[in-house]
Amino acid sequence: AAAELGQQAVALLAQVRDVVVEHEEELGKLDAIAGDGDHGIGMRRGVDAAAAAGEAASGSSVARILLAAGEAWSEKAGGTSGALWGSAVIAAGQALGNRDSYTDADARAAVTAFANAITELGKAEPGDKTMVDALLPFRDTFLAELDGGASANQALSAAAAAAESAAAATADLRPLKGRARPLAEKSLGHPDPGAVSFGLIVNRISQFIDS
Ligand code: ADP
Ligand code: MG
Ligand code: MG
Repeated sequence: AAAELGQQAVALLAQVRDVVVEHEEELGKLDAIAGDGDHGIGMRRGVDAAAAAGEAASGSSVARILLAAGEAWSEKAGGTSGALWGSAVIAAGQALGNRDSYTDADARAAVTAFANAITELGKAEPGDKTMVDALLPFRDTFLAELDGGASANQALSAAAAAAESAAAATADLRPLKGRARPLAEKSLGHPDPGAVSFGLIVNRISQFIDS
């Protein structure tokens, strides 16, 4: 059963790759407004490498697959978002470990570890106009839904919807962290690219798990 769960992690990484590939151009254009325009290509390089590394590690545990995927993501993406995603994927994998089945408590631990990795490494605060502005509503909604008795799939679906609207709402913010900061005024009226890609990815994961 541990190997089957590993296979699911590999399939999930392929979904993450696909949704980034579908939106690569859009993410690049968004980053070009006030950043350096490489968020599409950077994410693309990261997810290509992560999916391939996960595939190469298939047959092993979720933790090992996500470790390989996260390391590849950080290494190949370059850029801030790649380092953050890579470390978060590794942290989620460590929280999930090598088990024969997973409970809601494991899902809580994985989402919490994922979010902590990003805030500890990036040190962005809510309102800084980064992916954290989509990540924290995602985490908080996920945990609150589970507290309220929702299944993990229902909680994920609600959390993904919260991330998507929070990402759109970053359009009203001025960037305070990252490369977009010097061009803060240009960024007003447009959402943060890292928040948008986060929203896209978690929605795809939720749809995939529900199907
Ligand atoms: P780079 O900024 O190095 O070119 P990307 O373009 O791939 O990297 O990613 C930019 C995104 O990274 C931003 O839109 C923002 O969401 C995210 N980001 C930047 N700095 C931070 C940070 N300190 N914490 C969290 N996210 C950040
Ligand atoms: Mg960039
Ligand atoms: Mg860059």
